[in-house]
Amino acid sequence: MKLDNKVAIVTGSARGIGEAIAKKLASEGAAIVVNALHAEGANRVAREIQKQGGKAIAVKADVSSKAEVQDLVSKTLENFGTVHILVNNAGIIRRSPIVEMIEEDWDVIQNVDLKGVFLCTQAVLPHLVKQKYGKIINISSMAALGTNNPGTAAYAAAKAGVIALTKVAAREAGPYGINVNCILPGRIITDMIYTSRTKEEVDRFISDGKKSSVLGRTGNPEDIANLALFLASEDSSFMSGQVIRMDGGRGDIL
Ligand code: NAD
Repeated sequence: MKLDNKVAIVTGSARGIGEAIAKKLASEGAAIVVNALHAEGANRVAREIQKQGGKAIAVKADVSSKAEVQDLVSKTLENFGTVHILVNNAGIIRRSPIVEMIEEDWDVIQNVDLKGVFLCTQAVLPHLVKQKYGKIINISSMAALGTNNPGTAAYAAAKAGVIALTKVAAREAGPYGINVNCILPGRIITDMIYTSRTKEEVDRFISDGKKSSVLGRTGNPEDIANLALFLASEDSSFMSGQVIRMDGGRGDIL
């Protein structure tokens, strides 16, 4: 299998895109650290991986807390002895126009979506450097390219930061044989798309997404998981610092 004897931390993998990535990497032999903000979902995903014959543990940790991220990495090392793959997937969104946005919403989005990527990278990188091998996969968003709707300024800014962080991390880590790449998902059907939206707004988001994609459909978490597997495996060993759109071919910005 492509990831035999590899250990992967997937942040925010209690549901949605993270869950699909965790299960995909597990299906190729990786031992998975299923992380989330709440224990319940993480435990469920870890149990499901185990039932399929895979190796997994669940670790509850807030990626925006340095102490909790350190605990996440410590538990990974205690259980599996090392770490090879970090998928920075945890993310949140809160929508409001700039003039109405409360400072707390701006801060919490930067803390989880951008600082969380920094803290996890900082905590994992020394272990990858020591073994001169590793893969870091950052989940940004098409919003980072300025394509998203009004009301997403904080999210789009944080996700643009993730692209910049990817490129600098690729430069710093490359000499140690570590690949750092970034995925920009388009419209993927998960719980996140329902955040701060009415049912009508979600329906419009989905139908607009289908219209703007040259493939005529929205994405599902497995679409992103397939690309994450490629980036986690040796199939992408000559790629680093890349920002890859997986958005069904957004016809409006192709
Ligand atoms: P989701 O809301 O379904 O899942 C988010 C996960 O992150 C959950 O498991 C949650 O527990 C976890 N999480 C939230 N805050 C956390 C924290 N502080 N610490 C640790 N874990 C935390 O979201 P999703 O749609 O699966 O999104 C996954 C990633 O993909 C996010 O980074 C998101 O921004 C990005 N993305 C999603 C879409 C989409 O259309 N769904 C599009 C572009 C990018």
